[in-house]
Amino acid sequence: MHAFTHPACLGHATGPGHPERPERLAAVLTALRTAFPDLIWKEAPRADRSKLQRVHAASLVDVVLAPIPEGLVGLDPDTVASPGSAEAALRAAGAGIAAVDAIVGGGALRAFCAVRPPGHHATADTAMGFCLFNNVAVAARHAIDVHGLKRVAIVDFDVHHGNGTQAIFEHDPQVLYASSHQAPLYPGTGDERETGCGNVFNVMLPPGADGTAFRSVWRSRLLPALDAFAPELLLISAGFDAHRNDPLAGLQLEAGDFGWLTRELAAIADRHAHGRIVSMLEGGYDLQALAECSVVHVDALLEPPRQPR
Ligand SMILES: [Zn+2]
Repeated sequence: MHAFTHPACLGHATGPGHPERPERLAAVLTALRTAFPDLIWKEAPRADRSKLQRVHAASLVDVVLAPIPEGLVGLDPDTVASPGSAEAALRAAGAGIAAVDAIVGGGALRAFCAVRPPGHHATADTAMGFCLFNNVAVAARHAIDVHGLKRVAIVDFDVHHGNGTQAIFEHDPQVLYASSHQAPLYPGTGDERETGCGNVFNVMLPPGADGTAFRSVWRSRLLPALDAFAPELLLISAGFDAHRNDPLAGLQLEAGDFGWLTRELAAIADRHAHGRIVSMLEGGYDLQALAECSVVHVDALLEPPRQPR
């Protein structure tokens, strides 16, 4: 198990009152370091521009990397950049690339990337929904293009639909995208009739849905699709904003629900992917819930694989 982060990810300032704030990552890091003192931490490298552009238009990379001397620049009504944001975005995307290298190229089994800004709303050419680069999409593309994998699954249990990830891969049969999300909720995509080229699996949960409903849809619909796809690598968009205490959404999950799903995902990875999982932090806006869920998630990732490679 490797954990990736970088201090620059704390330097992405978003202004007073913004929910996607540096304290989120600080809470995750403190909780993980306390719960798992032996965890191996690695410094996330910067993503190369060429690797970003496997997924993103050059115009978006230009926008995100444009120097900001001071203050905040609004990229959309929710998404801001500050002087430290370009470096944070490069390190967040770079974490996923380095994690794929460590897992696919280096023989480690699992990696967790404790990074921000999050990524799953960023499309090929647009930063949105607190996301600058689509970190998990860059990682998936790297696994396929550089490591030659043929089937990579992206599982997204953030309470919001990962519209950017879906849009990037909806015509790519080498990537499966499976998401549960609250509907209605931002960004408004993720209808169950959106199926890509047969590689997109969306499940909508109504406001107020609890862990029983969440486990039921994963057990009956999303996990079987994932199992049938038989991924060689499992990537997770790990957002914890479906927790009952989260201020941005209305699902009623508890930390144990995230632990349950992580163990189910680990079992599928053990079955098809030699146990290989790269998990990347997405949302989660109640600091205490975010910290608790991160610990439960990493704890489940740390469990020994059921079928060692
Ligand atoms: Zn979210």
